[in-house]
Amino acid sequence: MYIDAHFGSAGVTQWLDVVNPSTEQIVAHAPDADQQVVDSAVAAATHAFASWRWVNAFERSRVLHKIGDEISHAERRIATAITVEMGKPLGEALGEARKLAKAFHYYAGEAVRIFGETIPNEEDGFISFVEKEPVGVVGAIAPWNYPVELIGWKLAASLAAGCTIVVKPSEYTPSSAEELFRCLDAAGLPAGVANLIMGGRSTGKLLVGHPGIDKVAFTGSQAAGEDIYRTVSGITSLSLELGGSCPLIVTANADLERAVAGTLRRAFRNAGQICISINRAYVHEDAYWHFIEALSAGARRLVVADGIAQENADVGPMTTRAGLDKVMRHVDDAKARGARILCGGSRPQAHDKGLFYAPTVIADCSPDMLVMHEETFGPVIGVSPYSSLDDAITQANGTPSGLAAYAYTEHVKESFTLSRRLDFGNVSINHVDAGIMNAPYGGRKQSGTGYEHGREGMEGYLHLKHVRLRHGA
Ligand code: NAD
Repeated sequence: MYIDAHFGSAGVTQWLDVVNPSTEQIVAHAPDADQQVVDSAVAAATHAFASWRWVNAFERSRVLHKIGDEISHAERRIATAITVEMGKPLGEALGEARKLAKAFHYYAGEAVRIFGETIPNEEDGFISFVEKEPVGVVGAIAPWNYPVELIGWKLAASLAAGCTIVVKPSEYTPSSAEELFRCLDAAGLPAGVANLIMGGRSTGKLLVGHPGIDKVAFTGSQAAGEDIYRTVSGITSLSLELGGSCPLIVTANADLERAVAGTLRRAFRNAGQICISINRAYVHEDAYWHFIEALSAGARRLVVADGIAQENADVGPMTTRAGLDKVMRHVDDAKARGARILCGGSRPQAHDKGLFYAPTVIADCSPDMLVMHEETFGPVIGVSPYSSLDDAITQANGTPSGLAAYAYTEHVKESFTLSRRLDFGNVSINHVDAGIMNAPYGGRKQSGTGYEHGREGMEGYLHLKHVRLRHGA
């Protein structure tokens, strides 16, 4: 852990095993922080806030750029820690570390663009102006699927805004968070401005329920998000980036080659453990046969391997045993309800150890199947044919999730119909990369509230102050 600029585990009595999902070997032990540790981290952040909030924005910007540089120097160490603890192939983990560095440079730029406004007054001699001020001490909690990026977005945006922060990473991925905090330390971030505590769900609850926390920034499951809503202490500002069950619509006017390539990437990357993974696809009946054949042929070609041994493998293991069990439950459910498994559908025989699952395409799915309405969070996609676009949109919108939706069509009118009627925070047409650093990213409905990325990602750590001044001029 890292509290008030000291690395250590003082006061920790409980430890958690951390397992490499490719080998199922224990690779680390992480502290399971209790109330006393949480108190000391929040106290350090509270103390540091009194000075960090007044540090000139240009100085905060300089420190953030320096952190970005330190991350670039440490990218291989960070990436290796990611792969060993959560399984994504090293090539992909390096990509994550590079995007993490970018996030710090981006918010270094935003730190000096915290603009207010002036407002005309009815009476002469008055002016109203609105200034933005940091909300205070942030409690940030992240999952394991993008273990450093999902911490980094919260860290970079809140430090740019002038907040201080206590971060709790997932209990499955403590070491990459530690590597990130080594970069903060090397960059000379003042003591207490950013603190790292480790632990599981109970530590998370202690943090979000702590009366010293002014804002909770959470990424994780819908169940945990709902629990946090109930746990926060008093009136606490919240941003919740939760899960989704993301749909894809492929119309009769789609470029099928592109649609298949995009689907392969967004259904199976990170072993499907992405909040914006394509879970379920609705394909026009004229394109259906071609689409499922090409998709399953592509899925069979994906290389499933330990991402340290084969750093450019396509798919690593699943990260958790519970996640693997859920995938098997979804596939069994689809089979029992009459769907066809076109490829995968089991653990690959080439691996006698590790939480691997073969990329799986399930055809002829119906809405009652789990894979078509619950987040699978694994390398599985359910596909269903449609005849009317209206009907496909209704089915796509027909779950409580509202994070991201995808569509392929070369038809201009269809692309506007889809982008306007899909009830999701992010809609990608003719590609599958929903998020870019300088545009707001967030969910709606049960997928959460608040935004990350972009200017809006920093606004969430600021509140407004209306100053009305009688100057007499
Ligand atoms: P999770 O909700 O089980 O855990 C996430 C984090 O919250 C962990 O650090 C955990 O220790 C902590 N936690 C769990 N319960 C808590 C509680 N009641 N109070 C406080 N802290 C608690 O999720 P996970 O399995 O680590 O991650 C997978 C989920 O995250 C998926 O549902 C995925 O869709 C979602 N996710 C969403 C986004 C997004 O941007 N919307 C991004 C990535 C992942």
